[in-house]
Amino acid sequence: MTNIDAIKSYHAHIYYDAATRDTAAQVREQVSEHFLVQMGRWRDEPVGPHVRAMYQIAFDVSVFPILVPWLMLNRQGLTILVHPNTDRPRDDHLVHALWMGEVLPIKQDVLRETREDEETIVPNTTPRRASA
Ligand code: ZN
Repeated sequence: MTNIDAIKSYHAHIYYDAATRDTAAQVREQVSEHFLVQMGRWRDEPVGPHVRAMYQIAFDVSVFPILVPWLMLNRQGLTILVHPNTDRPRDDHLVHALWMGEVLPIKQDVLRETREDEETIVPNTTPRRASA
């Protein structure tokens, strides 16, 4: 059994393509307005283990219970991967992840089994309201 204390933070990866980029921009704007998160930049070309264009939202454990339900209700059909960040990146993406919408392939070979360097979340949004 793994204790949930192993989870240091989370990522939500918002996938899009040419047809859904505007929708992804709307979701991005709304998340920035409502949540204190570290918003990643647009990745129009697949990067890392991701096989489709996406941007990343990194957030603290305390944000999960408000952001993830909000994404469930407001993703507008976009495919979203939510994964924990522990010291085991491969498991985080392949075993412990949750998906909204379709389940996309993940490139396994670029994922390390373990990591020691802990990722620090530096929020870069300025929510106008405390929550959605
Ligand atoms: Zn990630």
